[in-house]
Amino acid sequence: MMEPLGQLCARARFWASLRLDGELSELEGALLDAHTARCADCAEFLASSGAATSLLRAEPLVSHAPIRVTVPRSPQRVLVGAAAAAVVVGAAVLGGLVDNSSSHSPKTEASRANVASVGSVETADELRRLRRVGLLIPRWLPRDLPSEPS
Ligand SMILES: [Zn+2]
Repeated sequence: MMEPLGQLCARARFWASLRLDGELSELEGALLDAHTARCADCAEFLASSGAATSLLRAEPLVSHAPIRVTVPRSPQRVLVGAAAAAVVVGAAVLGGLVDNSSSHSPKTEASRANVASVGSVETADELRRLRRVGLLIPRWLPRDLPSEPS
C-alpha cells in the first residue's frame, strides 16, 4: 500500500505530469525544480515518469482491426419497433389533449403578462434588454404597514 503523499510532494508530482505534457508554466517549473532538489522521492518520480513517457512516445502507433457488430434482422424485431413507435405517438397525442384541456383554466394577470412579454422577444439582445428593464423598474414596497397586527 502506498503511503499518502504530503501536500508539497503531491503538487510536485502533478507539476511533473504537466511538464511531461509541456503544460507547466515557468514559475511552476522553477518550484518543481526547487522541490526535486531537496526531495529525493519526487526527483526519482520525475526521472522515472519522464523515462517511461519517452519510451511510450518512441513506440510506433498501432492501429487495431476495425470492429464489426452484426445485428440480426428479424421480423419480430421490426414489429416490436413499430409497436414502440405507436406507443410514443399515442402518448404524444394524449399529452397534447391533456395540455389543451388544462389550458382553459383561468390564469392570473401576472402569468398572462409574463407570457406576453416573453412571446414578443425574438432575439437574445431583446431578451437581455427585457431582463435589465425588469430589474430597473422600481418595485412598490409597502411602507405604511401597521406596527402591530390587529
Ligand atoms: Zn516530494
